[in-house]
Amino acid sequence: MDNIKYNLKKIHDNINTTATKCGRNPSSVNLLCVSKTKPSSMIKEAYAQGERHFGESYAVEASNKIEELKQEGFNDIKWHFIGPIQKNKTKLIATHFDIVESLDREIIATRLNEQRPDNLQPLEVLIEVNISNEQQKSGCSFDNIESLVNTIAQCPKLKLKGFMGIARENATKDAIIKEFASLKKIFDEYKQKINSIDTLSLGMTADLDEAISVGSTEVRIGTAIFGQRTYSASAVANKYISFIGGGNMSTCIFDGIAKSYSTAKITVSGPHIEKLQHFKDAGAFITTSNIEATKKADVIFLGVKPQILTSVLEELSNAGIDFTNKLVISMAAGFKLSSLNKLTHSQKLIRIMPNTPAKIGLGVIAVSYGENVNDNEKILCRELLTNLGKTFEGSESDLNVIGAICGSGPAFVFRFMESLCNEGIRYGIKEKDIRAMVELTLQGSAALAKENKNSSLQSLREAVTSKGGTTYEGLKQMTAGNFEQTMENTIKACLDRTAEFEKLF
Ligand SMILES: *Cc1c(COP(=O)(O)O)cnc(C)c1O
Repeated sequence: MDNIKYNLKKIHDNINTTATKCGRNPSSVNLLCVSKTKPSSMIKEAYAQGERHFGESYAVEASNKIEELKQEGFNDIKWHFIGPIQKNKTKLIATHFDIVESLDREIIATRLNEQRPDNLQPLEVLIEVNISNEQQKSGCSFDNIESLVNTIAQCPKLKLKGFMGIARENATKDAIIKEFASLKKIFDEYKQKINSIDTLSLGMTADLDEAISVGSTEVRIGTAIFGQRTYSASAVANKYISFIGGGNMSTCIFDGIAKSYSTAKITVSGPHIEKLQHFKDAGAFITTSNIEATKKADVIFLGVKPQILTSVLEELSNAGIDFTNKLVISMAAGFKLSSLNKLTHSQKLIRIMPNTPAKIGLGVIAVSYGENVNDNEKILCRELLTNLGKTFEGSESDLNVIGAICGSGPAFVFRFMESLCNEGIRYGIKEKDIRAMVELTLQGSAALAKENKNSSLQSLREAVTSKGGTTYEGLKQMTAGNFEQTMENTIKACLDRTAEFEKLF
């Protein structure tokens, strides 16, 4: 499938021909690849063809993709935010993006300026102007451009690069050109006055030629490169989501979703209604009937213990619940996709394994997909989990290993912290004090490792260990006490137990 490669070639050819025909230098028109709702695998394909500018519209979805690609070493991509900006998303945008093209009001400018991290270059911004004058469209009105320009000038961490506009849909060629030209005029005026201004972002798949003829310096193309969008992350808002079981993990995931989305279409079921008060207080429906909760649901989180999951799914199946169009996300450890499939007759199944730091947004969430889960559903799943921490996708056997290391991991880390604290107490330091210091030692060490990705953990350890010194003697004891073997046994015991569970269900 060389579609993206082929599409890009066609677009570049089109830009070249159109620009030349209008007497413009083709290199004066940049291509922004609009990858919103598309998976990072597609971004990588366009990257392989030399594309470095990508546009995204949904802050949460985009930040995930950006982080994921940075982790994989794609560090020279310029990320453009082109969607409507909600006030509560400005921090995500200020942290992850290089350019914001959809700046349309002063409060957003102020927030982006405040929230742009000090270690990053000033955030480049374009003012989005509502060139079609449609009420429902975002963008600043022509009357407000000047005061927004002045506000931006007061923001040291913002740099005004130009203007962006979106033409009316399905308008005639002439009407589109007229709308584009009105912004070209503004662009030319301000370009005289402000040095940094060099970008006029006009043109999408449908009106690329018109935009180039008017003088666009950047066209934003999605559909013609990546194909039709079948899903938008904002569609989360339209999904009915149910939780079967209202325990710890359900609460954690529910709270994560509630941070970004309305809870009005969420239902939680559990045998003891009084234990579901938290969900009700947060705006969700609660019920004791799993069947009731499942009927209308588009997405079902299975949050019951593996020991009772079989009977819960049998109950639903016997009640005639059809899972074909429902996305089922199971948190039950040791309960394989194949077992879930037997009980639901569906392949739209996802297994997830979050660890407890997910409660504060710092979780590791291992994810494994069933065969029929499509890209849109994967994006939806990531979007639902995004406030819990980082998701890592892999096979089911990876899921078990990550479960042992990161799922059980916090318990091992707490055990280690207990030992360090106990030693402090043994030598007379107050429990409260040593605990605070041990917390910071772990947090600091993890952060140091994260900051120095190019150093191996061994070299970081050696940097603390001068030969014959105190740490050196300490580590010698860890080795003598068979630390390595202890850890090997620890992880193996977890995996063995998982295998036993898998046989049971
Ligand atoms: C989605 C989007 C595009 C891309 O539109 P296509 O028609 O898919 O090329 C361009 N600009 C903005 C602001 C968008 O939201």
